Amino acid sequence: MADSNFVNEINKRRTFAIISHPDAGKTTITEKVLLFGNALQVAGTVKGKKSGQHAKSDWMEMEKERGISVTTSVMQFPYQDHLVNLLDTPGHEDFSEDTYRTLTAVDSCLMVIDSAKGVEARTIKLMEVTRLRDTPIITFMNKLDRDIRDPIELLDEVEEVLNIKCAPITWPIGMGKEFKGVYHLLRDETILYATGQGHTIQDSRIIKGLDNPELDDAIGSYADELRDMLELVQGASHEFDQDAFLAGELTPVFFGTALGNFGVDHMLDGLVKWAPKPQGRESDARFVGADETKFSGFVFKIQANMDPKHRDRIAFCRIVSGKYEKGMKMRHTRIGKDVRISDALTFLAGDRALLEEAYAGDIIGLHNHGSIQIGDTFSAGEDFRFTGIPNFAPELFKRIRLKDPLKMKQLQKGLIQLSEEGAVQVFRPLINNDLIVGAVGVLQFDVVVARLKAEYNVDAIYEHVNVATARWVSCDDARKLDEFRRKAEVNLALDGGDNLTYIAPTMVNLQLSQERYPDIVFHTTREH
Ligand code: GDP
Repeated sequence: MADSNFVNEINKRRTFAIISHPDAGKTTITEKVLLFGNALQVAGTVKGKKSGQHAKSDWMEMEKERGISVTTSVMQFPYQDHLVNLLDTPGHEDFSEDTYRTLTAVDSCLMVIDSAKGVEARTIKLMEVTRLRDTPIITFMNKLDRDIRDPIELLDEVEEVLNIKCAPITWPIGMGKEFKGVYHLLRDETILYATGQGHTIQDSRIIKGLDNPELDDAIGSYADELRDMLELVQGASHEFDQDAFLAGELTPVFFGTALGNFGVDHMLDGLVKWAPKPQGRESDARFVGADETKFSGFVFKIQANMDPKHRDRIAFCRIVSGKYEKGMKMRHTRIGKDVRISDALTFLAGDRALLEEAYAGDIIGLHNHGSIQIGDTFSAGEDFRFTGIPNFAPELFKRIRLKDPLKMKQLQKGLIQLSEEGAVQVFRPLINNDLIVGAVGVLQFDVVVARLKAEYNVDAIYEHVNVATARWVSCDDARKLDEFRRKAEVNLALDGGDNLTYIAPTMVNLQLSQERYPDIVFHTTREH
């Protein structure tokens, strides 16, 4: 039987990630969230500033030069009686498959929307990924200190484009220079906004009740406007419903400004109150519950060369069940080997520290000397593997070529290892000896060339290749698959794990093939 402390440790955890389009305010909100979690003294230190004590590898230098955030990947902080894990989802140019896969390691997501712009492309893509597991979504409408779009129109757009119901929890009063604050529908109180306090936690003025004359004194004619507006809003939108939220069908919506540090705490209150505690995961043998006392976890991301002196790669492992204790024995179930782990890492606002213990819902960093791959399971001895940690079809493709043709073996080996690690995907067409690199984000291409040079001593360059998209293919009928293999040979390739893949020169070509071969299934994700 699990003791009550163990159960309490798990129940108080909330593990989430932020999904947003670049520039919507993810970094700013992260800073404010950490400010509330006391993980930062003053907001404004997440991006750019680093502790400096860890040697950074070349390609991380490269990221730095380009001004891409090299933030730590996991941030843990207390909020109220809870312990919150915020997983970073790389954005901008460092956007990659890791961004997608991180979403398999969380139990809920915060969607940040630039209220002047509404639902943007990247957000749509990321929402698609959260749908694979029906992850509960909380929404923050950001930048209310600017001239934004009509809030009702914004909610309609979220409902229509993202196919999720909206339940406003707060409602904005004014916008831009006239932004007065928000009315909290559940608490029946108005929280007034004061400018110029973005870097600190502010004591906002709160006015209880909608009919309170103090409200008219404080915001003048906006008070009556708010009262009329709320009638309309309550008629036109949905009420918050915990079950619908947990099923990923409804999102509570908060309004505010991350820059002005206003509304972020309302959102955090909602997160710890409503977002699910650590959830179990399916494995190939059985469902593994988070409150099982025996340790288990899976690797969703590998970060290479954090310390180039040691060829030190960190495997990020989401604990699914039980507890990690320093010095414990874990089974690496893919290779059937037991390993004693006494140097797992935790992550706190830019620094790494050795870890004594961690619980389901937490992320621990394991040193990887080459044996750990994306999707690997660690257990307390039981043999099973977690499912649902996919590869995502790449969206960008390049042919990779050697400067020195004699190094073909090293190139192939390097590419296959990098693809096992999840850095990139590699496709080998059936009809020629090309090597095609596929990635979700552009930076991965440069990372691969830099790592091939550093780790495999291979000089490689890219060329254009006429591939627009890729799909893994399968078919229950071996004969039909064989026929497809023959007829579509020019468009078929094997990936790093020898899985048959259709590489399409255009989206139209893909569509035509799907119509022509209705028995073949074209997959946009592939399980490890
Ligand atoms: P990210 O790309 O999503 O991480 O976005 P950032 O947090 O870096 O924000 C992008 C830009 O928007 C920066 O210049 C921020 O200062 C600005 N920004 C973020 N939140 C707000 C906000 O609430 N109001 C205003 N006016 N600007 C904001």
